[in-house]
Amino acid sequence: MCSVDERMRVVDANGKLVPHLYCIGDANGKMMLAHAASAQGISVVEQVSGRDHVLNHLSIPAACFTHPEISMVGLTEPQAREKAEKEGFEISIAKTSFKANTKALAENEGEGPAKVLLIVYLLNSVFISSETIMVEIHVFLEC
Ligand SMILES: Cc1cc2nc3c(=O)[nH]c(=O)nc-3n(C[C@H](O)[C@H](O)[C@H](O)COP(=O)(O)OP(=O)(O)OC[C@H]3O[C@@H](n4cnc5c(N)ncnc54)[C@H](O)[C@@H]3O)c2cc1C
Repeated sequence: MCSVDERMRVVDANGKLVPHLYCIGDANGKMMLAHAASAQGISVVEQVSGRDHVLNHLSIPAACFTHPEISMVGLTEPQAREKAEKEGFEISIAKTSFKANTKALAENEGEGPAKVLLIVYLLNSVFISSETIMVEIHVFLEC
């Protein structure tokens, strides 16, 4: 594995940044998934184009190309509950039908027991006076 900082800049064994060297994808071990490699690549392109960019890995959607497929973005429910307890905000969870997924419908797989877990955080941000809503989503068929 190649050590990198939050901007995918390579860090040497002494913790120093290696100038002009970035490492994206599986090789940096941050999040060994296809969409993460892609998002890290875009982030690095932004930076070398002169636009500073720090990638929020929690915002990267992940898909498991299994059958049935599983997709997710953000924290898991236990992680969200822990964060809510520590930081003193509320979460709410919504479950809905797999029929709402247009890809499942297009593939004629909208039927059957399914679970879509939608977690909405209501956060009071110091920087934004109104409430900020963060959403995380997990989609999977219930066996
Ligand atoms: C079996 C399996 C199932 C997976 N399932 C999922 C999944 O369901 N969902 C998901 O999101 N991710 C999945 N992944 C992970 C996903 O494939 C990787 O996270 C993603 O491909 C990483 O992208 P990358 O660009 O870092 O590396 P890669 O996609 O591996 O690309 C590296 C490229 O570099 C080339 N290369 C290597 N050495 C050299 C060299 N010396 N010179 C020139 N070229 C070289 C390779 O040929 C390859 O084309 C799976 C991986 C495996 C192995």
